[in-house]
Amino acid sequence: MRARIVAGNWKSNGRQAFVEAYATDLKAALAQKPAGGVTVMVAPPDVYLSALKAALEGAPVELGAQNCSATAEGAYTGEVTAGMLADQGVRYVIIGHSERRSYYGETDEVVRAKLAQAFAAGCVPVLCVGETLEEREAGQAEAVCKRQLSVLEGLVPEGAEVVIAYEPVWAIGTGKTATSEQAQAMHAQLRAALGSLGLPADRIPILYGGSVKADNAASLFAGEDVDGALVGGASLEVESFACIIAALSERT
Ligand code: PEP
Repeated sequence: MRARIVAGNWKSNGRQAFVEAYATDLKAALAQKPAGGVTVMVAPPDVYLSALKAALEGAPVELGAQNCSATAEGAYTGEVTAGMLADQGVRYVIIGHSERRSYYGETDEVVRAKLAQAFAAGCVPVLCVGETLEEREAGQAEAVCKRQLSVLEGLVPEGAEVVIAYEPVWAIGTGKTATSEQAQAMHAQLRAALGSLGLPADRIPILYGGSVKADNAASLFAGEDVDGALVGGASLEVESFACIIAALSERT
């Protein structure tokens, strides 16, 4: 069985008081370990990683980061390396988020370098792929996602874990969600593409991301190739996030 994951991406949100209140509420919501083998991951801004880790102690929650440096340690002012993140207890690192690609000019080459750093540090990368609305309307969605996925070629160390997140750019933070059919269709194509890259496609979780909320999670999770969700806005509200976790736990 593939891992099932609900991952929360806080983006640039949250302060110390929020970290503490959030951890208290999430611990209460997850007093029972989620059923169905669901893994929960939360990725706060880097400066709050250790505070969140401490506040969540004992809770069934993995720590994630939203980004990592494309380089190892050295004279790279302002960069946080994957090794530093691992040292702080981070297990998952989101790489290639569309906001990083569009606002910070991250190319596939940079994404590949970051993936290499994450693997070297022993972190599990969550590689985000997704097409813009323009690309979808031009019939290029599959080609764009496959190109973004192809950075994994020859890069994944034997036995290393990797997670894919299909996040159509037009659905991120817009309230528009892919239909469950659109999500399942793309996930199946991505799984086939992972196989073509020589990767163990059946074992690689593919998450859906893009305006996942409490009220649409169950229908998105109906797709057999949809292994969970990468959640932005709704992950900031513990009640909504917990409903999304429950929706995945309850999937048969
Ligand atoms: C995201 O940030 O990865 C995301 C999917 O955001 P949202 O859920 O807010 O659309």
